[in-house]
Amino acid sequence: MSSFANAGAGAIIRDIAAVIVENRAYLSEIDGKIGDGDHGVNMAKGFGRAAERIGDDASLGEAMATLSDVLMSEIGGSMGPLYGMFFLEMSETIEDLGAIDADTFAAMLRAGLDGVASVGSAKVGDKTMMDALVPAVAAAEAGHPDMAVLLRHVAEAAEAGRDSTEDMVAKIGRSSRLGERSRGVLDAGATSCAMILRGLCDGAAARLDA
Ligand code: ADP
Ligand code: MG
Repeated sequence: MSSFANAGAGAIIRDIAAVIVENRAYLSEIDGKIGDGDHGVNMAKGFGRAAERIGDDASLGEAMATLSDVLMSEIGGSMGPLYGMFFLEMSETIEDLGAIDADTFAAMLRAGLDGVASVGSAKVGDKTMMDALVPAVAAAEAGHPDMAVLLRHVAEAAEAGRDSTEDMVAKIGRSSRLGERSRGVLDAGATSCAMILRGLCDGAAARLDA
């Protein structure tokens, strides 16, 4: 079974942080249409600070733990505790592993999803990050004999889930106050979540050993 080394893969988190920082204005712009317009600012602050603290030799588990600490203790908004728990649960799942294969990758994402659900209680269809995350975890758990294909399926499921939020009415969080008027724009958290999962999957795929 193919896998990638945990050691040194902390660079994946730095690459994700770079994407988030690049998309700071875009994420705030979409949050601004139905929320308070701070999602990109919150995300770029947290991911940017974490990236500065992740060393070249950090494992993926260590880098996720560092990111989680920053998000939970230094970042406000809904996102701090939600993504903080996401990365904490994922880091704990892989911290003792030398290599991450398709099964442990799926278990890692499942733990992250369960962590977010325990904090936020949002369901698919509520127009949140869950609309990207839940189908991505389902794709990971569906499995595929070729891990590179599996990783592609996970990222594509997250992006399709993100796109599905455009036609939804928000049922939870700040934008739910708008009711029907929240329809017609992407959810900011689903958009950042799809970026994170795309980065995680592409980073893992680039490091596969077989
Ligand atoms: P705030 O809503 O406090 O301004 P952010 O702008 O950083 O925080 O994040 C907004 C995003 O958080 C939303 O787009 C949505 O995807 C996500 N979100 C809000 N509440 C929840 C929840 N209970 N569960 C999952 N995601 C949520
Ligand atoms: Mg906001």
